Amino acid sequence: MADLDFASPSSNSSIHPLRNGSGPWQLHWPQKMPLLRVSGTVSCDVVVVGAGITGAMTAEILTRAGHSVIVVDRAFPGRGSTAASTAMLLWEIDTPLVELADLYGFEKASAVYQRSLLAVSGIADMVEQLALPCQFALRPSLYLAPAGEGAGDLAQEHAARARAGLPGALLSREELIGAFGFDRPAALISPGSAEADPVLLSHGLLQTAFRGGARLVADEAVRYDWDDDAAYVALASGASLHAKKIVLATGYDMPDFVRSDLHSIVSTWCVSTGPVPRNAIWNDRALLWEADDPYLYARLTQTDEIVVGGEDEVIEDADERDKKMAEKSATLARRMRALWPDRDYTFTSSWTAAFGQTEDGLPLIGPVPGARNILAAYGYGGNGITFSFMASRIIAELVAGAPRPWFDDFALDRGQPST
Ligand SMILES: Cc1cc2nc3c(=O)[nH]c(=O)nc-3n(C[C@H](O)[C@H](O)[C@H](O)COP(=O)(O)OP(=O)(O)OC[C@H]3O[C@@H](n4cnc5c(N)ncnc54)[C@H](O)[C@@H]3O)c2cc1C
Repeated sequence: MADLDFASPSSNSSIHPLRNGSGPWQLHWPQKMPLLRVSGTVSCDVVVVGAGITGAMTAEILTRAGHSVIVVDRAFPGRGSTAASTAMLLWEIDTPLVELADLYGFEKASAVYQRSLLAVSGIADMVEQLALPCQFALRPSLYLAPAGEGAGDLAQEHAARARAGLPGALLSREELIGAFGFDRPAALISPGSAEADPVLLSHGLLQTAFRGGARLVADEAVRYDWDDDAAYVALASGASLHAKKIVLATGYDMPDFVRSDLHSIVSTWCVSTGPVPRNAIWNDRALLWEADDPYLYARLTQTDEIVVGGEDEVIEDADERDKKMAEKSATLARRMRALWPDRDYTFTSSWTAAFGQTEDGLPLIGPVPGARNILAAYGYGGNGITFSFMASRIIAELVAGAPRPWFDDFALDRGQPST
């Protein structure tokens, strides 16, 4: 195994998801990762294509389970959506429980929410057990009613969550102002979410997997094939990998043979400050997000920077996304100022990137229809990293040949929900 610089990935792809600016995590990027050079055909138990947070979690658990694993990425690991992420590890799904229950019924919707809650505590356990230095901390989340609207929708959501046995409390305007200083008609305060540095987290997982025997190949997956017993991936270099299972963890960039009526690519924008003084740090360092469309989300880093994101739009074209940078940054800054006025902070960085989302807010995880021995792990939406964890655990059970009925909730061919 050679210790090579990843500065010149083999990719000829024009896709650069993290564009036009820099997130707070890049300083932590290690310069080197151990790479395996392959030629001809190399075999292993599982190939994981994509070394973002989803691929890293999947590679780690599969390696720990005793499988021989090769991870393939066409760029430096973690430089996809993962590097751009604000890494609010929410168990609350983009689709409110009330809406998810309208789509799939209350029982199924509440089971999905419960699994999401368990996923965040699963991430906490994993970080502790593997001793991953990734600035992980449990945080409450504060889900804010939009300014100028009543508390009605949030009260309904709170009642549904209480019925589902989910933790949290509804704060009135006065309680919210008293506890946090945010002036909104109402908010849901919920324990059990978390934050991390997503690049450190994914690199820590990859390094753990490498120590367990996983190997990293710097190449682009260009073609897939399969038969009854195995799957194959051809790489841009001309080499190919042959495995019992191939896991696709390529972020929003899905190969053509993976289709979902529910999937779209969404662009999002972010701004961040440098370290802010004490008066700009809100209580409990809560993770903030709004019940609004487009929404705003915000968190503090452990070095006291305020990071704000949102203004999401379904835009695939990176140039179109870049052109909106100035306008979107100004809007985010203005919205944050309206929410958190009269404190000393200035936004100094901005960036934009893409991630995959689905119409119902649930991820696409499991076997790829029509492609034997190929599994997909796409952790979508604003709480993508929570779903990445869920995906890695589902994939591990599928590789072990232990499917469970509830995996179907995330099936790639689940089709359009009935409204
Ligand atoms: C600005 C922003 C803010 C976000 N905020 C949050 C948040 O607060 N909380 C949260 O949970 N989620 C958030 N998300 C979503 C979350 O970041 C993503 O869901 C998550 O990072 C997806 O990880 P991934 O590993 O699936 O994909 P990626 O990180 O995109 O990784 C995919 C990898 O696959 C590689 N790849 C793709 N195609 C090929 C190929 N053909 N061959 C080889 N390699 C390939 C890419 O190079 C890349 O490294 C945010 C996303 C963005 C963009």
